[in-house]
Amino acid sequence: MVSATRLDALVIGAGFSGLYQLHCLRDRLGLTVKVLEAAPELGGTWYWNRYPGARCDSESHSYCYFFSRELLEEWEWSERYPGPPEILRYLNHVADRFDLRRDIRFGTRVVAARYDEAANRWSVETESGERYLATYLVAAVGCLSAASIPDIPGLEDFAGRWVHTGEWPREGVDFRGKRVGQIGTGSTGIQAAPVIAQSAAHLTVFQRTAQYSVPARNQPLSEAFRRYVRSHHEEIREVCRSTPNGHPFRIAERKVSDVTAAEREAIYEAAWEKGGLQFRATFRDLVLDKAANDTAAEFIKAKIREIVRDPETARALADIDHPYAAKRPPIDTDYFETFNRDNVALVDLRADPVERITPSGIRTRSREHPLDIIVFATGFDAMTGPLLRLGIRGRGGLALAEAWRAGPSTYLGLQVPGFPNLFTVTGPGSPSVLTNMPIAIEQHVEWITGCIGYMRRNGVACCEAEPAAAAGWDEQVNEAANKTVLALARHSWYFGANIPGKPRVFMPYAGGLARYRAICDDVAARGYAGFVMA
Ligand SMILES: Cc1cc2nc3c(=O)[nH]c(=O)nc-3n(C[C@H](O)[C@H](O)[C@H](O)COP(=O)(O)OP(=O)(O)OC[C@H]3O[C@@H](n4cnc5c(N)ncnc54)[C@H](O)[C@@H]3O)c2cc1C
Repeated sequence: MVSATRLDALVIGAGFSGLYQLHCLRDRLGLTVKVLEAAPELGGTWYWNRYPGARCDSESHSYCYFFSRELLEEWEWSERYPGPPEILRYLNHVADRFDLRRDIRFGTRVVAARYDEAANRWSVETESGERYLATYLVAAVGCLSAASIPDIPGLEDFAGRWVHTGEWPREGVDFRGKRVGQIGTGSTGIQAAPVIAQSAAHLTVFQRTAQYSVPARNQPLSEAFRRYVRSHHEEIREVCRSTPNGHPFRIAERKVSDVTAAEREAIYEAAWEKGGLQFRATFRDLVLDKAANDTAAEFIKAKIREIVRDPETARALADIDHPYAAKRPPIDTDYFETFNRDNVALVDLRADPVERITPSGIRTRSREHPLDIIVFATGFDAMTGPLLRLGIRGRGGLALAEAWRAGPSTYLGLQVPGFPNLFTVTGPGSPSVLTNMPIAIEQHVEWITGCIGYMRRNGVACCEAEPAAAAGWDEQVNEAANKTVLALARHSWYFGANIPGKPRVFMPYAGGLARYRAICDDVAARGYAGFVMA
């Protein structure tokens, strides 16, 4: 049997979460730590998602770590929204600066993690058979790292090439002269289609769910803005930490009903011109009240009808069946305009569903669409998928998959009863995907570090969420979602609806990051109330 590496802590994943967790546990608490990462390089999401048009929707000056003043001062972003190459340069800079690479093992996929009760430690196995023994196990595997390919009959017969945006080939894909079919019109599909259309001979976009999208209006950052960022790190950090979504702008105090219809339209128009996720922040009741939301929804639908010239295509694109921002709200660069190109067609799958993939393309009910390349922009088995793929077993050999048979249950998205000393960064039940994630990640990593530090100072060997605390938190997660329009889009991936057989449970905590932070801080201040500290 291969000898096992013994550690205080093992971290899985080398994206934003894993890198910072390594730094905190190793350099602040002085623990022996290793990070295992399946990819050959660091970067997580931004290593895997290099599809054409890939770009962050968070604004660059807030999509970063805030824990180190020096780091903030020495890094400058070049564009309003950074793309994968720039984010990867940033994360590599972070890794170099804090000397992280020496404790990361790349190309190492975790396939099993068992809790050994007698020894109170985790035994972790990798795909190549290596073993690691660690007191603390931190799953920093991301919310969106388990790519999902829909089960469409015939894919294995397809004679052309197919790719998933979340596992994009590093050498890229040459679309020149090719007939391309794109399945999926979420945030990723909306980014990819305009860029694919520029080089492909023809692009067919297969749409199951029509989506709202607001222009991103990406641009190089002006010297004046960079100067502002350089001298306002503290204020930017404060805004991000105190708003519900962790973005660097505040949500307006006004409600839709506080203004006249003409004022409202002018506000939307200005937000549309400014671009980006700030559109959602124009009124405080947009995500709380369906009637208020309808006004934003109608505004965007009218824009779609105005932009897209072909009336039938415009109708299908604007035929949106959920409230604005109830699904992850995309922002785009020329998405709707792309449908005015001669080489782009939309297939509305609600009217003309896919029957199968054939050797030469995709057959929908009405006809065959000949294709050379199929691009799956079909997203992820979000939030629970990456955790379940770790093969985790806790007390008494209980599989995480079994514990979560009816849907994920966690305490604060940080721990699962029955799985002692296992911490999840941005796990289900945390604000995670509803936020500008580096802000949420810093909060989680710092809380986990604080908790482990407390355990070591107080001779606590084992930290485990109480079942009652988890049940209470699950209820709060549900309640928080039910107070918003997010609960009205039951076919969203927030509910797991994109994965056949996945329990329909609203997974992220919609009560806001600031509120969540206060709850976590309070739990810690009360001696980790709701956790058994044995
Ligand atoms: C296309 C796309 C666009 C996004 N845009 C935004 C945005 O605009 N704003 C925003 O805030 N967030 C955005 N996100 C979310 C993004 O995932 C987070 O911002 C952030 O990158 C998450 O960092 P992480 O370290 O938690 O997870 P990840 O970056 O996903 O890293 C997790 C790592 O764990 C590794 N891993 C997983 N399973 C295993 C295993 N079994 N063994 C070993 N390693 C494993 C993966 O390879 C991966 O490298 C986007 C996500 C996607 C996919």
